[in-house]
Amino acid sequence: MSIPREYAKSQLMRLAGKPGWPREIEAIRELVSSLEIHATDEKHAKSCVDSFSFYSDRCPTAADIASELFTTGPGLLNRHAGCLACNGMGYVHVEIKGYSCAAPCKARPEPDEEVG
Ligand SMILES: [Zn+2]
Repeated sequence: MSIPREYAKSQLMRLAGKPGWPREIEAIRELVSSLEIHATDEKHAKSCVDSFSFYSDRCPTAADIASELFTTGPGLLNRHAGCLACNGMGYVHVEIKGYSCAAPCKARPEPDEEVG
């Protein structure tokens, strides 16, 4: 799974103004590679850069990018990223006999068994 390098680059450049942005071209290339390699698709890459852009004061490292993409990745959470039914949590609250319980969100279909 990877995305076009040019896309990864253009998204990443949105972070260029942040403190900690590397000066060395090689270091920038590492960031691009991390986004390119670990993102499932363009949307995934964009939402990753969005979260660093909006919620982080400094430039992420290549490891930060990888970790962010892993946690929002093809596992359960990614399927519900942006899901309005569960607010991206992957589960919803249901009431059963007066008790509030968490139940898996069914607003998004289960993916087929395809990994890698
Ligand atoms: Zn959901």
